[in-house]
Amino acid sequence: MHDFKYIRNELYCEGVAIESLVKKHGTPLYVYSQQTLTSHYQKLDAALAPLNHLICFAVKANGNLAVLRTLANQGAGFDIVSEGELRRVMAAGGVASNCVFAGVGKTEAEIVFALNAGIYSFNAESEPELARINAVAGRLRKIAPVAVRVNPNVDAHTHAKITTGTYENKFGIALEEIEGVYARASKLKHLRLRGLQMHIGSQLTEVTPFAEAVRKVMPLVKKLAAKYHLEFFSIGGGLGIVYQHALASGSDKWWKTAEAKNILTPEHYAANLVPLLEPLGLRILLEPGRFITGNAGILVARVEYVKRTGKKNFVIVDAAMNDLIRPAFYDSYHEVVPLSRKKGAPIPSDVVGPICESGDFFCKDRPLAKVKQGDYVALLSAGAYGFVMASNYNARPLSAEVLVNGNKSAVVRERQPVPKIWELERVPDWL
Ligand SMILES: *Cc1c(COP(=O)(O)O)cnc(C)c1O
Repeated sequence: MHDFKYIRNELYCEGVAIESLVKKHGTPLYVYSQQTLTSHYQKLDAALAPLNHLICFAVKANGNLAVLRTLANQGAGFDIVSEGELRRVMAAGGVASNCVFAGVGKTEAEIVFALNAGIYSFNAESEPELARINAVAGRLRKIAPVAVRVNPNVDAHTHAKITTGTYENKFGIALEEIEGVYARASKLKHLRLRGLQMHIGSQLTEVTPFAEAVRKVMPLVKKLAAKYHLEFFSIGGGLGIVYQHALASGSDKWWKTAEAKNILTPEHYAANLVPLLEPLGLRILLEPGRFITGNAGILVARVEYVKRTGKKNFVIVDAAMNDLIRPAFYDSYHEVVPLSRKKGAPIPSDVVGPICESGDFFCKDRPLAKVKQGDYVALLSAGAYGFVMASNYNARPLSAEVLVNGNKSAVVRERQPVPKIWELERVPDWL
């Protein structure tokens, strides 16, 4: 569910016509719905109510300060992967003691910063990392709270670039090795073994792999919890969202359709996992990113040219792969709709950006309403792994971001002025 819909043939975000936003702020423009953000968070939170739990939003999905503040106001914790993300959370008013620090490559400086800030747990991915955290904590005369990421070797049946829970990839420590790792880690004086963590992949649309992973790891969690007085078990993120029927999925009616029956809802997720987790008596952490923000954001672009060549219809827009890289990176699907609903039969179109890369496209041969130069189109479900992955490729400035709340809207990131792109570059004096 989300709050983007047509009202009298104009696309709205909550109570605001999106065309009024692009007229004011230009394109490419990211637009987020605050109502969608909070309702996604609240739905998940409510579904997990029987558990002592903490939802740690994965900041890497969308790090905008206003988005983080919205979630912090709801009581969210955060899953961070760098010092920069922790600083973002703190700048947004989030508290470090509700943050978990993930990632295979934490540097010493990052560990120092996170320890001093007082994070809830380091989610460690290797023994050398545990040794480093221990050494840094010793130096700072602190005890570092840690969990180890277990790799349960479960196939999440998702895209290869976002599968993380099998032995084929770099994440976590194999299930069979975990007990030995905890035994050795328990001898490190400056560590406190606080939990166990896993994360099997992203954009999972079935509950089965989650349940399989929890079942598989359960005997281990029980054993470790008893032996080392663990406080939490984090089951990671990865809840998938609707991309293919993104617009329709905003309506109450859609949720009664056959497609909707196959979508992983918070209720379905919780109905399968809560009974497994409740008897543990541990605090359960979740690290959703995409589920919270994915359908809460869109990217709006202006049609610059319509070019017909042979059988092809190219719609060339002013947004590009540097603004939203997911189609190029993961072959991902984003629904494309005009801001003003059009009459007439849709025609197969390639929506492409201006960059000289054949990967710079948003869709291929997709039936699309006939649009013309100067029209606007919205790329839906762009609220996760969208702006955060943007770059300055082709010296294109980072787009602006707007947050809508009811009838109000605010720029939550200004469009980057072009000269700022090279602000930190220097020409040496011998030139
Ligand atoms: C990426 C990531 C997440 C969030 O994944 P989503 O698919 O966006 O929910 C959570 N935990 C870890 C460890 C991650 O790497």
